Amino acid sequence: MQIAVIGGGITGLAAAYRLTQILPDASVTVFDKRNRLGGVLETLHRSGFEIEQSADNFITTVPWGVHLCKELGLEEQLVQTNPLVRRTYAVRKGKLHLLPDGFLMMAPTKLYPMATTPILSWFGKIRAAMELFIPARKDDVDESMANFVRRRLGREVFERLVEPLVSGVYAADMEKLSVLATLPRFRDMERKYGSLITAMQQQLKANKQAHLEEQSGARYSMFVTLRGGLSVLTETLAEKITSRRNYAVRLDADVLPLQKDNGRWTIEVRDNTHAAAEKPMTFDAVIIASAANDTALLLQKSSPVIAERLAAIRHEGTAIATFAFDAKQIKQEFRGMGFVVPAIERSPILAGSFSSLKYEHRAPAGKTLIRVFAGGARAPELAELEDAQLIPLLFQELKRMIKIDGEALFSCASHWAGTMPQYHVGHRERVREIEALVQADKTLALAGNAFHGVGVPNCIESGIQAAEKIAA
Ligand SMILES: Cc1cc2nc3c(=O)[nH]c(=O)nc-3n(C[C@H](O)[C@H](O)[C@H](O)COP(=O)(O)OP(=O)(O)OC[C@H]3O[C@@H](n4cnc5c(N)ncnc54)[C@H](O)[C@@H]3O)c2cc1C
Repeated sequence: MQIAVIGGGITGLAAAYRLTQILPDASVTVFDKRNRLGGVLETLHRSGFEIEQSADNFITTVPWGVHLCKELGLEEQLVQTNPLVRRTYAVRKGKLHLLPDGFLMMAPTKLYPMATTPILSWFGKIRAAMELFIPARKDDVDESMANFVRRRLGREVFERLVEPLVSGVYAADMEKLSVLATLPRFRDMERKYGSLITAMQQQLKANKQAHLEEQSGARYSMFVTLRGGLSVLTETLAEKITSRRNYAVRLDADVLPLQKDNGRWTIEVRDNTHAAAEKPMTFDAVIIASAANDTALLLQKSSPVIAERLAAIRHEGTAIATFAFDAKQIKQEFRGMGFVVPAIERSPILAGSFSSLKYEHRAPAGKTLIRVFAGGARAPELAELEDAQLIPLLFQELKRMIKIDGEALFSCASHWAGTMPQYHVGHRERVREIEALVQADKTLALAGNAFHGVGVPNCIESGIQAAEKIAA
């Protein structure tokens, strides 16, 4: 059986790796138009600093990331977040304030910190407390994140707490972002408990009980990374894949729109190094692990209906700028790992991370690494801005929020155009429709961050499922 995997990011690599386990005798080729594997995942090592160019860690409550690391023998390299700074700041009028203790993405678990936070006005706090009495919505109709949070907790909690926290992850427009596709558990809580505050408190009690019962306590922090960077994961996968004689990787290989004749897929590749089209190749099955708009282009000839549905899932661009300092240049102590910036602050920064405080191995002793995240639906043009303009713009803004002496020792930026999927209202139905159309074809599987989750563990799961569909 000859199988093509298009896209050599974490999704495509997870798919190809799973194929080595379930179809070891198949002949598999992974194609990527970039000149390296890993997709958006890329770790740089410079002057003793470890710099992540996109994702810098992954969640452990979605188990696929940790499972895969264990399976690859990378468990010893998993690093937990620094326990002394497991909090987040939100910017309010240009200054950093710790988020109320116990505020988890969308709702408070503790009332006293909510009552005393300087981020909300008294009016905002009273409105948030009224959440306990607001009638619950019981239907299953989707709505925007903005609508949901304003409806339950009021405008201030939305604008000053939830909008920046969610934007810092999804880089999306909250007026369009689907609550059912991104954080459905909060709608479930509303339905089941009638109130998010009640639900969070009940869950906290249940978790405390579970924690007491599990004598050893939680095994991992909520987020982990790998010592050596997330590229260790993609490099290890690539080694496992290419160690099989019948598995190959083709880089600089831009796959052109696919053709399907007599049940076989024809793949034509334009080699980016000499911009030439090559002799077409044929395959029995194809796994496409790219952004939805790229997948739509690939399927436009062979499956125009699927392509049209896929094209409706937008991917926005984002950018990351990283700054290295001598620790003494930072004239402030931090009790959190990073900060989020509400849209109402009108800042070019979406969020920032004190990278070397969050994971101490990322900077040499006496040095500090800070990175900022920009772009997304709020300012997609920043993803395309030249480094010479982007880096000073973000540095000036960072200095407005944090006391920094002098210039960075060095800085760098990465640009990720069209990579962050936007799960707009109705996303779940759109995905169901696409999956129903694809399901009928046993020789085609689609995977990636456009469907059921943006995070690295979700991508790994979708790659594994794609491989299993093709092998079934
Ligand atoms: C700035 C940023 C920060 C993030 N932070 C986090 C985080 O902290 N934690 C977390 O869990 N997740 C994070 N994410 C999300 C996560 O990193 C991504 O969702 C995930 O890595 C996507 O992997 P992928 O393989 O699906 O896609 P990609 O990495 O985009 O890979 C797709 C590949 O397909 C290739 N391709 C496309 N079309 C073709 C074609 N026609 N021919 C050949 N090749 C093609 C592309 O070149 C690309 O390499 C972040 C993402 C970004 C951009």
